[in-house]
Amino acid sequence: MAGEEVARKFAYATLNASIIADSGLARRSESSYPPGMAQPKHPPGPPMTLGDMRELGVQKLIASCLNNACRHTALIEVWSYPAATEIMYFKRRVVCANCGARGNRIDVRPNWREQPPMPTKLSFD
Ligand SMILES: [Zn+2]
Repeated sequence: MAGEEVARKFAYATLNASIIADSGLARRSESSYPPGMAQPKHPPGPPMTLGDMRELGVQKLIASCLNNACRHTALIEVWSYPAATEIMYFKRRVVCANCGARGNRIDVRPNWREQPPMPTKLSFD
């Protein structure tokens, strides 16, 4: 049936996209330290929250679709959420408005571009 054919194609595309997203995330977030080597001081670290992000001068999140055929990005207004909300909370909920991707096919991170430049504290007068 034609409907089944479409469904199969869609499933294949979805699988393909999530493999791309997984490998990208693994490279970025998983430690590549071999066992027995010096570990970083706080290996996994506590999950970043909106409070942490605001302390760094960033008010919004930016979501990027990892679907290569889409690459949609969007800013997320999070001012109404409490400081204790983890950024992962949004990653689990965001759906790409363009192609419908979600979960590990969406990258959600603080919108560092809006971070103010570091204040210059040096003065010699
Ligand atoms: Zn998308």
